[in-house]
Formats: sequence, C-alpha cells, structure tokens
Amino acid sequence: SAKERGKNSYHMYAPDLQQITSDKMFIQNELNRALALGELDLYYQPQISVSNGDIVGMEALLRWNHPERGLVSPDQFIAVAEETGLIVPIGEWVLQTACKQNMEWQSQGLPPIRMAVNLSARQFLKKDFTQLVADILEQTGLAPHYLELEITESTMIDVHRASSTLAELKQLGVHIAIDDFGTGYSSLSYLKEFPLNRLKIDRSFVRDMKQSPSNRAIVSTIIAMAHNLELRVIAEGVETDDELAFLQEHLCEEVQGYLFSKPLPQDEITTYMQKRKQKIS
Ligand code: C2E
Ligand code: MG
Ligand code: MG
Ligand code: MG
Repeated sequence: SAKERGKNSYHMYAPDLQQITSDKMFIQNELNRALALGELDLYYQPQISVSNGDIVGMEALLRWNHPERGLVSPDQFIAVAEETGLIVPIGEWVLQTACKQNMEWQSQGLPPIRMAVNLSARQFLKKDFTQLVADILEQTGLAPHYLELEITESTMIDVHRASSTLAELKQLGVHIAIDDFGTGYSSLSYLKEFPLNRLKIDRSFVRDMKQSPSNRAIVSTIIAMAHNLELRVIAEGVETDDELAFLQEHLCEEVQGYLFSKPLPQDEITTYMQKRKQKIS
C-alpha cells in the first residue's frame, strides 16, 4: 500500500528514478495533509548571551508530528517541501506561529527576546515576501526588531532579487542572520553590500574545535571578520565547556546548542524560561 511505501521512503536509499519520483509525490501528499490537519509543530532552542548567560533569543525549528512515524525532523521533508513549493504555505505558518508565540511570552511577562525563523530561498525570493512579514507583524503585534530571519548563503546567489528584499526588510526593521555561515559557495562580497545583522557560524566548524586547529582558525577568523564588518556573531551547535570557552575568548556574542538546551516543545521551553527568570530576579 501507499502507506507502507511511504514508511520505507524516509529511510531507504531508492536508486531508481521512478521510485524517487513516487516517493516525492507521496511525501507531498502527506505534507499537504499535515498542514491541513495541524500535524506540524514548532520546537524552540534558546540563544544565549556569552557575556551574561541571559536568553536573548529563540530559534523556531519545524517538526512534523506524524501519526505513525512519530516526530519527523526537517531534514527529512524540507527538501521535498522546497521542490514542490509547499514550503511557501508551510513557511507562512511557521512565521505566523513563531511571531504569535513570541508575543505570548511577552504578554506573560517574560523578558522580551528575539525569535529566529529559518527561511528557504524560494520563500524569501517570492514576490511580496516583505508584505507577508509586515502583515504578520501587524496581526500579532510583535515589534519588528524581535523577529530575526535566518537565510543561507545560497539565497544570496540571486543577488539582484535578494538585495531588494533585504533592503525592504531592513526598512521594516526586522533583523537578518546568515545561517550555516561558511558552508555555502557564494562570494563574500554580499557581506559588505547588504544590510545584515548577524553571522551564524555553522556547527561543522564548532564541532571538533578541540582537536582541529583549522576549525579553530576558521571560527576565530569568522568572528574577527564579522566584527570588522560590524556584524554580530552567534555560534550554533555548542556542546562543550571547551567550545564555549574558546568562543568567549574570541568575543563571540552569542551561543546556541545542546550545552544549554536541545530544541524543546512550546510548553517545556516556556517552563525553562520561567525557571531561568526566577533565578535571575
Ligand atoms: P539550522 O537552521 O542550521 O538549525 C540547526 C540544527 O542543528 C537544528 O536541527 C538543531 O536541532 C540542531 N542543533 C542545535 N544545537 C545542536 C547541538 O548542540 N548539536 C547538534 N548535533 N545539533 C544541534 P533541526 O531542528 O533538525 O533542523 C535542521 C535544519 O532544517 C535547520 O538547520 C534548517 O535549515 C531547517 N529548518 C528547520 N526549521 C525550518 C523551517 O521552519 N523552515 C525552513 N525553511 N527550514 C527549516
Ligand atoms: Mg537556523
Ligand atoms: Mg545553521
Ligand atoms: Mg543547517
């Protein structure tokens, strides 16, 4: 049956094209249903200030609560969502839900923080994307500087379209971060041309810093370059005290990773924030 076929499609390498195409269609149908039935969910991972340990932001990370397969991670369906265009309605749902959640935390009296939302190139480069963001901010009442949009270097490849959207978003007042920085193939020239706020050092450089002199060189160089360009830096995938110490020594402003918290569902992350607030006040 289609269901059995789908089960395998997530885990098995399917070499023939026919199989790949039908798996894609299968996932597409399932994703359509997921969106309609509310099977998509957001998890949240804190972003921490290195200087004082405060939570300064949250990254919203998409999950698919599949009735049979359980929790499915985005690596298993984002590519299909992008190819089929389903990333557009899914991305809209993510933006809306994340902004609403951030506003809810503020109205509960928690210290205001940024909400970071991941964007696919296809979503970002779509006509009227800025208008969508403006509408969502207005509907939810969230101030623009509490929203940070994460795009990757590959989004910058279409320089012309990316630059006009970036200028509009800057005008609107939302923040922009370059995710997975250092792993793309784009030129660095966009860094001086575009109004960006933050570079996010890819996990692959943070991992193994202890053993790898070249990873340490890359990380410290990215931080120095960012600061020279007046950009802030956040390191992702921070798992150990040694990694944190190195980043602190090199004046990286913020960190995110399992050392502080895994991504957690809304109720658990809210409890985590409330506990930390009590500790501080
Ligand atoms: P990303 O934006 O680079 O997110 C970071 C990924 O690293 C997340 O995986 C997160 O759970 C994981 N991570 C965080 N800290 C650690 C750590 O200390 N150690 C390790 N090993 N992993 C860590 P996740 O949630 O599976 O997301 C994977 C990717 O899927 C994201 O990478 C992002 O590119 C994409 N994604 C997630 N949500 C969305 C979304 O709403 N829209 C779009 N377009 N893409 C999304
Ligand atoms: Mg991200
Ligand atoms: Mg990343
Ligand atoms: Mg990534």
